[in-house]
Amino acid sequence: MFSLRTPLESLKKIFGYDAFRLSQQEIIEGLISGEDAFVLMPTGGGKSLCYQIPALHRPGVGIVVSPLISLMKDQVDSLKAHGVKAAFYNSSLNSSEARKVLARLHSSDLDLLYIAPERLMSGEFLERLAGIPIALFAIDEAHCISQWGHDFRPEYRQLGRLRGVFPGIPLIALTATAEAHTRTDILDRLGLRSARCYVSGFDRPNIRYTVLEKQKPFAQLTTFIQPRYRESGIVYCLSRQRVEKVAGQLREAGFRAAPYHAGLSAGERKNVQEDFLRDDIRIIVATVAFGMGIDKSNIRYVVHYDIPKNIESYYQETGRAGRDGLAAEALLLFGYGDIAVARSLIENTKNPERKRIELHKLNSMVSYAEALSCRRRILLGYFGDHLAEDCGNCDICLHPPQLVDVTEDARKALSCVYRVGQRFGMGHVIDVLRGSQKERLLELGHHRLSTYGIGRDKSQQYWGSLLHHLVHNGFLEQDVGNYSILRLTDSARPILRGEQPLTMAAPRVRADTVSAKEKS
Ligand code: ADP
Ligand code: ZN
Repeated sequence: MFSLRTPLESLKKIFGYDAFRLSQQEIIEGLISGEDAFVLMPTGGGKSLCYQIPALHRPGVGIVVSPLISLMKDQVDSLKAHGVKAAFYNSSLNSSEARKVLARLHSSDLDLLYIAPERLMSGEFLERLAGIPIALFAIDEAHCISQWGHDFRPEYRQLGRLRGVFPGIPLIALTATAEAHTRTDILDRLGLRSARCYVSGFDRPNIRYTVLEKQKPFAQLTTFIQPRYRESGIVYCLSRQRVEKVAGQLREAGFRAAPYHAGLSAGERKNVQEDFLRDDIRIIVATVAFGMGIDKSNIRYVVHYDIPKNIESYYQETGRAGRDGLAAEALLLFGYGDIAVARSLIENTKNPERKRIELHKLNSMVSYAEALSCRRRILLGYFGDHLAEDCGNCDICLHPPQLVDVTEDARKALSCVYRVGQRFGMGHVIDVLRGSQKERLLELGHHRLSTYGIGRDKSQQYWGSLLHHLVHNGFLEQDVGNYSILRLTDSARPILRGEQPLTMAAPRVRADTVSAKEKS
């Protein structure tokens, strides 16, 4: 039907675009010349053209595996609108429709055929294909083959046989889920170990990433939102209760905020969403239930009030900011208590494999939050996308952490833990250090300890950060099951004896200092 010479001509004539994006051209040319490919691009990056155009440039039909019937229909409708001969073959067709599609397949009247994995891999269908010229196989949402991905589908597993059954035909796997284990798993399972991997498009340069240590979260939130009260933003919390509470507090403080979570009726959710789109509401306080399919390009900030479960969610949720390409902010309030909660939720997971995966992912999220180097590098690195240099647009790049010598204070804190008999948690240890007059402390006689009041000169927050720092670096351990009692570890000794110096990054607490500095 088309007489096309180059992929660029197809892009212009059929799809009406002027230029390829990201690595599209390389991927397309590779596939046309018969190579396999593995493509990682974020949602909306333009993965579809990577197999649609090669299918038009190679003889035979391009077979596209897709997990969702609705997705197939949308794709096919849009291709037809561009004059491409496309069809889908799935359980939504009645028997006469299905026969028509098969007839077109056999008479080489299709450029692209979308199909569900279990249909494709049925013995009957594979036999059919044996006698038909095939341009390529494309496996969309390829992460569905891996338990490491977020949407494992057992029926995808059968696709592992494809490479062996059709050795000469190029195979392209595409996904937006790019964490290292998922990646390797997809390649292994599909027999694509020698395929070229293309990772691109994950960077969102207009989003500025900032992490603050969570101390008085609501105050931290309002300090951040105040100068942005006329702009649209999303505040993500991990539970419905937290969503309701924060939304209520924001309203009391005079912000146009509304809650959004799965506990609201469909009608209520729809109203909130529409008010937000029309800018009648500026702030949506939401659980992760909010955002799927929301198309608002001028969201200026996304705040995570609680730590997300993994970097994939974090990336996806922050990615809702700044779709218009203008400057946007992603702020994470990072609290150690939240991690403990997240860990304990994961501990309840029945499947041990799942548990291991989720803990690993949570740990990566924590490392991001605790990082002292460019956040964007860490984020992109997690997806296998690499930045040539530090980004210049994250809190670390803009305000490099100042390392302060905490050797002396660490000694004070550790000896205080020891003096209270290694039987108390952080709150009490800090009270003793700061010389509190609390009744319980006096009852225990802890005002007579040699460490009582030796840390008066520093704030409660400071001691909190320092104690967490000591826990994280293995000088203290925290008994999770038992009121978070602090105990010394063996590595605390050299510090106590003054044989080992210790530094810590000064805690980052206030968002306004981060952005105010920037404006000047
Ligand atoms: P993905 O599958 O990666 O989520 P799509 O393939 O659906 O993304 O593409 C997202 C949007 O970008 C579509 O509207 C598509 O037409 C458009 N698009 C893709 N490639 C280009 C391009 N080279 N130039 C302009 N628009 C493009
Ligand atoms: Zn940076």
